[in-house]
Amino acid sequence: MAAIIPDNPSTSQRRADRADEAFVELTTSLVDSQIDAGDPDDPIARQFRIDPRESLDVPGFDADPVGDLAANAVPGVLHKYHGRALLVLTGACAVHCRYCFRRHFPYGDQRLDEPALDRALDYLAYDPDMTEVILSGGDPLVLSSRRLAGVLGRLAELPHLRRLRIHSRIPTVAPERIDERLCDALAAFPVPVVLVAHVNHPRELGPASREAFERLRRAGVTLLNQSVLLREVNDEVEVLAALSESLFEQGVLPYYLHHLDPVAGAAHFAVDADTGRALVDALRARLPGYLVPRFVVEEAGEPNKTPL
Ligand SMILES: *Cc1c(COP(=O)(O)O)cnc(C)c1O
Ligand code: SF4
Repeated sequence: MAAIIPDNPSTSQRRADRADEAFVELTTSLVDSQIDAGDPDDPIARQFRIDPRESLDVPGFDADPVGDLAANAVPGVLHKYHGRALLVLTGACAVHCRYCFRRHFPYGDQRLDEPALDRALDYLAYDPDMTEVILSGGDPLVLSSRRLAGVLGRLAELPHLRRLRIHSRIPTVAPERIDERLCDALAAFPVPVVLVAHVNHPRELGPASREAFERLRRAGVTLLNQSVLLREVNDEVEVLAALSESLFEQGVLPYYLHHLDPVAGAAHFAVDADTGRALVDALRARLPGYLVPRFVVEEAGEPNKTPL
């Protein structure tokens, strides 16, 4: 998902060393309940439990693999692509995904304070092309629904906004957080809202996520999903096909399948691009086109995610 941006990049390396130690194991009770402790290859455990291979130093796997330090327009805003920008309200997440590159930034719990939010909103309001704001993080939905409703009220005033997007893992790892207050605020939002969930394996979906997605749909939110292609988690066509079909049964369309960002500590998750392409070709041969995610990679300096 997204990165946390140091205010002062020159200090990032020193801090990154400390942050790596601080990227503790973090799950929710729902995630814990999905892990089969008797299975050494459990695909949920692989995503969330610390693996000794994280400490391996692998060439090509770095702390800032996608050039986010350079795209930090003002604190809290990450503007790389035309017409849309990320607004990072918090660096905190409900879970720590071991393959995430935010592990190297120690701002995990930092929140955008009011003056910084004012500045970020000024930046977004000033650009006439800024038609979409993407709440990202961290995970924006770890904020209280009351705080989120307040932020949504401010975002509703942005003059050029035509869409609001939220990137979140909350609907599947802490679905109870999709509460009435949040859904009311989303339903009242003046332009269409899109939520991009983050699910990598069909076993992450169950009755609780189904209800959370249902509440969001009733609030008029369009539901999409992004996944990361992860070795020994979802690098089989049967798993990817089951994921797309289970997502659709919960009202969610596959959007992106990301090639892994080469972040230090995650090399053991890497699937090479040719294997990924072959998997997606096989997926295309067995599913309707609308259930096949776009296989992309994020490359520093490019004007969009690069199709593979
Ligand atoms: C991924 C990303 C987006 C969204 O890209 P889409 O292709 O529109 O999903 C926007 N801004 C940044 C900085 C991103 O990394
Ligand atoms: S929820 Fe997203 S931002 Fe948070 S650790 Fe997982 S992948 Fe990273």
